Amino acid sequence: MRQATTNLPHPPNDALRLGLFGGTFNPIHVGHIEVAEAARQRFALDRIFLIPAAQPPHKQTLTSAADRLAMACLAVAGRPGWEVSDVELRRAGPSYTIDTVAWFKRTSPPGTEFFFLLGIDAFLEFNTWKAYSTLVKEVALIVLARGGDEADVAAMIDRLKRFIARHFPSGYRWDAAGAFIHPDSHAVYLFNGPRIAISASEIRERIARGEDARPWLDPAVAAYIERKGLYR
Ligand code: ATP
Repeated sequence: MRQATTNLPHPPNDALRLGLFGGTFNPIHVGHIEVAEAARQRFALDRIFLIPAAQPPHKQTLTSAADRLAMACLAVAGRPGWEVSDVELRRAGPSYTIDTVAWFKRTSPPGTEFFFLLGIDAFLEFNTWKAYSTLVKEVALIVLARGGDEADVAAMIDRLKRFIARHFPSGYRWDAAGAFIHPDSHAVYLFNGPRIAISASEIRERIARGEDARPWLDPAVAAYIERKGLYR
C-alpha cells in the first residue's frame, strides 16, 4: 500500500498516467478488478490506485473500513499495475473525490495525467458529488459500462449525452473515438469493455442467504470473508 506517490518514476517526455478508482468496495469483486484492468490496458495507465472510501457520502456501510481495506489489498496483491491507497481512510469525515484528486495531484510528479474510473451507475449520480463541476475540470473520467447496462451502445451514449447536457458545463460534444470532449475541460471517456453483471450488494445478499459467492471474488478475499464471518 502506498501512502504517497512522490517517489514514482517520471520518465522525461513520458507523463505518468494514473487511474484513481474510488468506491466502497464492500467487498471488492471481479466486476471491479476485471473491468478496471481492461480499462488500465486500453488507456495505457501505468497504475490504478484502488481507494476505499471511509464514510461514503451516498452509502451506509456496516463493514469496517479496516476489513474493506484488507480485502482490497488481498485482491491486488501481486497484480502488476495496481495499488491500494488508504488516503480516504486517513482523512476525517466523509470521503469526497474532489479532496482525493487534489491530494494525488499534490503528491505526484509534475505532468502526471489522472483518470478517475467509475461505473455508469455512479456517473449518473455525478451531479450529487461535492463540487462536481470543479471536479470535471480537474480530472478525466473513464466511465465503465456494467453488466446490467443496455447492450445497445448508441442508447447508452444517448443516456450519457442527456446527463451531460443537463448537468455538465456546456461545450461537451461526443467524439466518435469514444469520449465526450470539451475545449477547456477534461474528457469523459466511455469504456464499453467486458461486462460483468455483479455488484457488491448482490454478493452480500448471496452470502447472507448462505449461497456461494466465490465465483465473483478473488480466492484470498473469499477466504477472508469466510474467516471473519462477514455479511452473514
Ligand atoms: P454496491 O452494490 O454496494 O452498491 P458496487 O458493486 O456498485 O457496490 P462500489 O464499491 O460502489 O461497488 O463500486 C465502486 C465503483 O466500481 C463504482 O464506480 C461502481 O460503479 C463500479 N463498479 C462496481 N461494480 C462494477 C461492475 N460489475 N462493472 C463495472 N463497474 C463496476
